[in-house]
Amino acid sequence: MKVLKFGGTSVGSPENMRMVMKIITDGEQKLVVLSAMSGTTNSLVEISKHLYNKDAQAARSVIKALRDKYDKVVDELYSADHYKQKGAAVIAEVFGLLEGLTSKEFNEWDEKVALAQGELISTRLFTLLMEENGHRTELLPALDFMRVDEERAADMEAIETLLSEIMAGTPKVKYYITQGFICRDAEGRIDNLERGGSDYTASLVGAALDADEIQIWTDIDGFHNNDPRFVANTRKIDQLSFNEAAELAYFGAKILHPQTISPARVKNIPVRLKNTMNPGDGGTLITTVSDGTGIKAVAAKDGITAIKIRSGRMFMAYGFLKRVFEVFETFKTPIDMITTSEVAVSLTIDNTKYLKEIGSQLLQFGEVEIDQDMSIICIVGDIIREETGFASRVFNALDGIPIRMISYGGSRYNISVLVPTSHKQTTLQTLSDKLLNE
Ligand code: ASP
Ligand code: MG
Repeated sequence: MKVLKFGGTSVGSPENMRMVMKIITDGEQKLVVLSAMSGTTNSLVEISKHLYNKDAQAARSVIKALRDKYDKVVDELYSADHYKQKGAAVIAEVFGLLEGLTSKEFNEWDEKVALAQGELISTRLFTLLMEENGHRTELLPALDFMRVDEERAADMEAIETLLSEIMAGTPKVKYYITQGFICRDAEGRIDNLERGGSDYTASLVGAALDADEIQIWTDIDGFHNNDPRFVANTRKIDQLSFNEAAELAYFGAKILHPQTISPARVKNIPVRLKNTMNPGDGGTLITTVSDGTGIKAVAAKDGITAIKIRSGRMFMAYGFLKRVFEVFETFKTPIDMITTSEVAVSLTIDNTKYLKEIGSQLLQFGEVEIDQDMSIICIVGDIIREETGFASRVFNALDGIPIRMISYGGSRYNISVLVPTSHKQTTLQTLSDKLLNE
């Protein structure tokens, strides 16, 4: 069985939903994971912000605008009145729930319930569309099998067990539908896999079912060798290894949620990125195999903060880095890049929630310098296998760019450099001109 995930734009209008229906109804059995219609999760976040600020009126006006949008969708999506009524009932139920949240003390669990509504609506409306068009379809509620543990990490064991029980007790049909993004936490409350998490759902479900392939359908042909939003002349990449794709996804390629690759890699399930608007294209295939050697792609990750700790006492002191890392561990803040010298250590983080606390605790070691608004530029490929001279080509290409940090050799698949975000676009373009499109 294949698992296919369609993103927000792919289900973003009645016309696109019909396109998705056409793509999936080829007679092969599959499980389809859907995102919320594009824009919906953003609106739900906005509603939640207003409710946290106790501005029920502002929340109601966003709810009203969202509801108007869905009333239109329902009207255009179905032909028969009978189905229009069923669709309207879904909308009435969900918006009744959202309205209800505006007249109570709003807490973080209410927020998670609110955020879950986008996927709950899109999957119910889509299932009705399939039924109206004569396709036997089963909606499998993700809240019945998607689980995270106490640390909010995916609970693969629970997902596997619950999903196989559900599949065993569900009528055998060709088309199964489920919600991306949403799950329950270790205590059974509604939770989610963080923004963009529907890709991750597809990968977890694919791994749980031992799927033949996991397909992520978006509105672009696949991974490009550079970011098409900032650079001219990017090219689609036909094939990537799991390692290369994981580096690209983690370091900024917006096409894929960064955690998506991991469950697929563990079970060795191919991941294919496809374009809903251009289904004939082969997309990007991600497997254990990488085609060719050398540099494949670059990506950028914004919102990076660099922290430099300069310490006289670091000289010859073992245990120093351990104590530095413990500060980050205390504040549950992951470190992305790190470079050291005898007198200083520089590292980067992207989660600045506890920056102040981290900064003041680090002062015990020496001087602390913090630079915000930085970007990690990640250069990915099968780099080490390429003969010598690779690093010098990269550094020549970056001549004139103010580089703050360099990380090389951490894995054979990437070289990362840290630059001010104001230099991101030039850096990406230069790398395209001098390394990718020579
Ligand atoms: N709807 C969620 C979001 O917008 C999850 C997803 O689309 O992947 O973040
Ligand atoms: Mg996405």
